[in-house]
Amino acid sequence: MVTTHNLGFPRIGRNRELKFALETYWKGEQTEHALLETADTLRRRHWQDQAQLDWIPAGDFSLYDHVLDTSFMLGNVPERVGALAGSELDSYFRVARGRSPADKAACGCVHAGEMTKWFDTNYHYIVPEFASDTCFSLNAGRLLDQIYQAQRMHPKVKPVILGPVSYLWLGKSKDDSDKLELLDALLAIYAQLLNELKIAGIDWVQIDEPVLVMELSESWKHALRQAYYQLQTTPVKLLLTTYFGQLQDNLQLACELPVAGLHLDAVNAPDEVAKVIDWLPVHKILSLGVVNGRNIWRTDLTAVLDWLEPVHVRLRDRLWLAPSCSLLHVPVDAASETKLDREIYSWLAFAVQKLDEVAVLAKALNHGRESVTDILRDNRAAISSRKQSSRVHQPPVKARLQQITNAMGNRRSPYPQRATVQQNQFRLPLFPTTTIGSFPQTQQIRQTRRDFRAGQLAETDYRRAMQQEIERCVREQEALGLDVLVHGEPERNDMVEYFGEHLDGFAFTQFGWVQSYGSRCVKPPVIYGDVSHGQPITTEWIQYAQSLTGKPMKGMLTGPVTMLNWSFVRDDQLRSETCLQLALAIRDEVSALEQAGIRMIQIDEAALREGLPLRKSQWNTYLDWAIRAFRIAANGVADQTQIHTHMCYSEFNDIIEAIARMDADVITIETSRSAMELLDAFDRFQYPNEIGPGVYDIHSPNIPSVDSIVRLLEKAARRIPPERLWVNPDCGLKTRTWEEVKPALSNMITASRQLANQLSRAAAS
Ligand code: GLN
Ligand code: ZN
Repeated sequence: MVTTHNLGFPRIGRNRELKFALETYWKGEQTEHALLETADTLRRRHWQDQAQLDWIPAGDFSLYDHVLDTSFMLGNVPERVGALAGSELDSYFRVARGRSPADKAACGCVHAGEMTKWFDTNYHYIVPEFASDTCFSLNAGRLLDQIYQAQRMHPKVKPVILGPVSYLWLGKSKDDSDKLELLDALLAIYAQLLNELKIAGIDWVQIDEPVLVMELSESWKHALRQAYYQLQTTPVKLLLTTYFGQLQDNLQLACELPVAGLHLDAVNAPDEVAKVIDWLPVHKILSLGVVNGRNIWRTDLTAVLDWLEPVHVRLRDRLWLAPSCSLLHVPVDAASETKLDREIYSWLAFAVQKLDEVAVLAKALNHGRESVTDILRDNRAAISSRKQSSRVHQPPVKARLQQITNAMGNRRSPYPQRATVQQNQFRLPLFPTTTIGSFPQTQQIRQTRRDFRAGQLAETDYRRAMQQEIERCVREQEALGLDVLVHGEPERNDMVEYFGEHLDGFAFTQFGWVQSYGSRCVKPPVIYGDVSHGQPITTEWIQYAQSLTGKPMKGMLTGPVTMLNWSFVRDDQLRSETCLQLALAIRDEVSALEQAGIRMIQIDEAALREGLPLRKSQWNTYLDWAIRAFRIAANGVADQTQIHTHMCYSEFNDIIEAIARMDADVITIETSRSAMELLDAFDRFQYPNEIGPGVYDIHSPNIPSVDSIVRLLEKAARRIPPERLWVNPDCGLKTRTWEEVKPALSNMITASRQLANQLSRAAAS
């Protein structure tokens, strides 16, 4: 018989119960007991949702982050936290977010653990901290409690743990020591842990080693061998689990490690299934991730069965089935989407539906397709409706895509020529000052938008309210003395959602929440069909803003790559193709703005870097189509029109050449948190166009001093010729208050003028 299981279930709850419980607990409005109660209830509910599987996962639930849980389980708690008074949960939240509800003082008492993206997903984990003297000790209480709880609900419980090598890989050495030096000590704890699991009645343990889909050096490959050869005497069976990609040159290694079973992401690595079967020793089971755990689309069950049946013939009882990865990355239950268009709804599968699919596939293999005839028929109908629907396929959009020429991605003249034309037109001072787009989003703005959406505010009243807000932004910017103004984005709830709502091919769910970090969730839009642009989206606001001032007003758009990377994207065509459709839609908006007389247009590509593939060898392919899409969106304008772009990530040194290829006239980037270290890239690469390295961190409420900004600017001016240097904050200001923004910008402007004066004095002397 084929065995079914799951790698992990979303934790946040259908209605984001965990989020609300955490946030009320953090505010001190709920007891620890009540929080843990909610967590218990959620886990029970989630196991009920998974009851049809042969094996249910335990330990995948987390109050904040599973990597942080692993650190606590291994006794790797940062010293700065361990020394403080309080319960284990206090320590846990101190590492997670710098404070626990026990810390009454207004500012957090310790600095939180660093957070970074979990492989190529939008989930962020707390980075484990290591030093050469890091000691480990086992603290399996949390995991065992979850296991006992699960065992009361289901006969077969499979704990999920993060493997030792991936755990080390994901962490950061604080003293530059070699993390792998810690492996031996770590393995002793893992051995102890596995023994305890055996005592708890556990048979199979899922041990995640997603590093197996990464490019590994010899020493990391060796670490995997060392780990699993040492753990092979463990009394439990290990299911070595990989996901998010292909094994490639690690395939043989993954097959050879002495464990009882291997899980392969068959959605991302369909071509490796046959090879793995050839290599895998006959005593091992093979778990295939056949249902995509990263998207929200129903699986074509018939197509999967077509290739899976022969695999089943070869493997028989050795075959296990599961989603490709943990379902952490999808929302809980599509059945909640009662307001969604019924046809689009019929194409969707969230976590609950994905597990149904796994169960149906197993049933079809175990008892023949006849045993699930009706389900397969219904599935085929949904798949074919999606393939043929006129909601999805817009022949004019496809035709337009065919007509894209290389010339469409090129500006009319090269940058130096454009720069002259633009400088003559704008007459900006040296070190011109500007902002990234949004201004504080007050309670009142949010309420106005909500009322309008709910139909409680007439459109004319809504428009007037937004205009008032725009006017306020413009007046404040003029009073401050900024050189290039923005309208402030009051009409936008979210930079992707706003444009998605105005384009064809996007749908929005009500409950499609996915955990981003801790209690934070995002609700990515769904790109289900060909994307196209109808009426101009932003011209009305930007034109109005421009009418209020003689200074240049920057139009503000979200770029195609960011729209793609922050959405659930259709899986029936290449991502690069969907991205080009988005590019054409944004191009239309750029051209509408230009026709409306707007002379500066910023196209944000906040998420460009996030789309980089896990393996460096695949970066160029991605960058090629992503940069091309941006150029198609941006470069249809006249020389006089100045194109800006903005990216809010650090670490861009390794893709600086690609960023230069975007050929934006001006780019603004985040650099202040690294004290301009990011500009090191400019030592080896002369960035050819204008650049505004962010001079203060908008994520902090602190007001930057004039001096601190001058110092940063001086650093920047050593690498960037003064005539190409802009002055701006790191990112948009929507999360800040006016009380913070005004003095901060005022200091920024003073700093810019001070630097300009220094420079002209130096030139005069
Ligand atoms: N223009 C957007 C803003 O200012 C950019 C946001 C971002 O980079 N994440 O809010
Ligand atoms: Zn940003």
